[in-house]
Amino acid sequence: MSMFEDIPVDVGVIYEGERIRRKDMQVELGGPSIKEKFEWAKVKPLDQVEDGKVTIIGPDIKDMTEGQAYPLGILVEAAGSTLEPALEGVIERRIHGYLNFIEGFMHLNQRYDIWMRLGKKAFQKGLNSFEYIGKVLYKLFKSELPIIEKVQITFITDPAKVKEMYPVALEDYEARDAKARGLKDEEVDKFYGCVLCQSFAPSHVCVITPQRYSNCGAISWFDGRASAQIDPKGPVFAIERGELLNAEKGEFSGVNEAVKKRSLGDVDRVWLYTAFDHPHTSCGCFEAVAFYIPEVEGFGVVNRSFKGVTVNGLAFSTLADSTAGGRQVDGFHGMSIEYMRSKKFLAADDGWNRVVWLPKEVKERVKDFIPADVVDKIATEEDVQNIDELKTFLKEKKHPVLARWEAEAAAVEAAAPAEATAEEGAMIPVATAASLPIMAAGFKIILKDAKIYAKKVIIRSMKDEKKT
Ligand code: SF4
Repeated sequence: MSMFEDIPVDVGVIYEGERIRRKDMQVELGGPSIKEKFEWAKVKPLDQVEDGKVTIIGPDIKDMTEGQAYPLGILVEAAGSTLEPALEGVIERRIHGYLNFIEGFMHLNQRYDIWMRLGKKAFQKGLNSFEYIGKVLYKLFKSELPIIEKVQITFITDPAKVKEMYPVALEDYEARDAKARGLKDEEVDKFYGCVLCQSFAPSHVCVITPQRYSNCGAISWFDGRASAQIDPKGPVFAIERGELLNAEKGEFSGVNEAVKKRSLGDVDRVWLYTAFDHPHTSCGCFEAVAFYIPEVEGFGVVNRSFKGVTVNGLAFSTLADSTAGGRQVDGFHGMSIEYMRSKKFLAADDGWNRVVWLPKEVKERVKDFIPADVVDKIATEEDVQNIDELKTFLKEKKHPVLARWEAEAAAVEAAAPAEATAEEGAMIPVATAASLPIMAAGFKIILKDAKIYAKKVIIRSMKDEKKT
């Protein structure tokens, strides 16, 4: 007899990774068009939790208009004689995994960024109430995490109530993150790995260290440790740090081995503190993405909720697509906002001295962690709209990347032949790229931070080529 026989749709791991397109959705809960939304776990005393209770505050799914998006808060209150508040982050992150087990239901992201869709087919089969979704969560929490003795779940869709609870949840996430700050990577001999996102990004393995928060921003090193302890067979596991192979880039033998094993050989080398060469893999639910801007030799960072286009004309979704799926893409780095508060934030690439553009909202959130002599030199969407304006801004502000421009100009000058003509001096780059692969004579040659100058550029269509 199935544990889920009273649920109108199927529930199981086979539904993980199921995507629900707009045209197939009954309703959207949270998501980009809704400002206030959250999922939040609290550990409570045993006498304050009514085991199995599911409460709905506001309209239920059956009362919602087809095709519309609604605010949603999910509050999971858990209790157990050995359950500690330190496990709240772990409990909260399980919501993502468990909801994705439901046939016809999609859950993305975390905390204040949640985005869910219920498919029309699942709705037609009878999945028309949060009561069922609460039951699934209840059963999975109780069976997967026996440390939880009682759990009650509340779904809040009343917009006023979501609005009221949202800032309180934000404060709680911040308090949790603040507790995890301070510890250094060198001070521990174990890191933690997470493969919860492999349903969407098969070769992705998060490596969670004290100074590198998980990509989703929902699991700190402390959460990783707690999760691996209470559920050693779960998606979060310990990684023996092993030998320090490269202190600057953040390469550890134990990390390489663990990632190779858990990605089934797809990824065998990870550098934790850089976006170049062997960057950490990017899943699909990273909070932000750092992207290299070769024209200024600096990084832009854009977060998921930024609505416009970034300084290079691309939106978050386009940049995220360029790196998501568990890949290591040179010059791109999917990451959490909390990682930007770490001393190891892109440390091998010169950290904040290399960041040239940020959405204003993100800048405000991490302002206290940006060195005082750089903070005003980083542009936002309010300062510049394109790369030319960015260049002017960086020059005016004397951003630290200028030193790279000067060094490069000096190198070009030194490399130029003494008899260079005026015509040659006027050459402009015809291609710039963080990484440019070239195939030649059976070899793959990769140029890093490349700028290619040409005296003459010949453009011929492939059709012409075939004719000749
Ligand atoms: S982003 Fe990383 S830590 Fe977060 S759920 Fe996915 S794999 Fe786990």
